Amino acid sequence: MEKNNVKEKGPYRNKLTQGAKQRYLEKLSDIQNIDPYELPAAQWHRDLNNLPPCTYMDIVNYLVFGVSHYTMQEFKSHKSLESYETFCCGWVQDLAIHKPPGGENSVVLAKVLHSRRLCEPPLTPWVILTPSGQVCSAHCTCMAGVAESCTHVGALLFMVDACVRLKEKASAGGGGGCCRSSAGGGGGCCRSSAGGGGGCCRSWGCCRSWAGGAVQRFTCR
Ligand SMILES: [Zn+2]
Repeated sequence: MEKNNVKEKGPYRNKLTQGAKQRYLEKLSDIQNIDPYELPAAQWHRDLNNLPPCTYMDIVNYLVFGVSHYTMQEFKSHKSLESYETFCCGWVQDLAIHKPPGGENSVVLAKVLHSRRLCEPPLTPWVILTPSGQVCSAHCTCMAGVAESCTHVGALLFMVDACVRLKEKASAGGGGGCCRSSAGGGGGCCRSSAGGGGGCCRSWGCCRSWAGGAVQRFTCR
């Protein structure tokens, strides 16, 4: 829904059609009218301890049962639920969080690489989350981003969910990812039949652990 053949300078929102820009500004009212694409880098932080506890249910509630501003129909974006794979492949990077002063909600932004066109600039979806992890709204710079439920938004939400679960697991004394958990049956999940016949279990949490508000990567054994 971006205007064609226009190379305007200025904020991203000015490149949107009038209706899309109006909707874009409406969404920002949930975060004190701050535009995530205009926020200076210094105002983003990367302490994942502050991520709202967005869960798989919150993701389904949004991507499937969320109502589109444009069609007034449910998104029913089952395709975006498949973006778990995009996230597992490591295409979601640079998770950053901002909670505007005086507000309750947080905005989470990330870079998502094109899965088939790695040389192109990454897309930058953002989501607005309530303190309890509910998804208020989302946006993305891809062609379908205005529709608010593209696969990049889905992949970003799965990243948030995974970080929150990893943090909870660490605080519960579970240590690192599943390779090190007792649930792995001693041999670690990479060697279990549940792993699909060798190699990593393909679970993002498998090769990562939680340390000091950040996700650390370690090598699967
Ligand atoms: Zn997108």
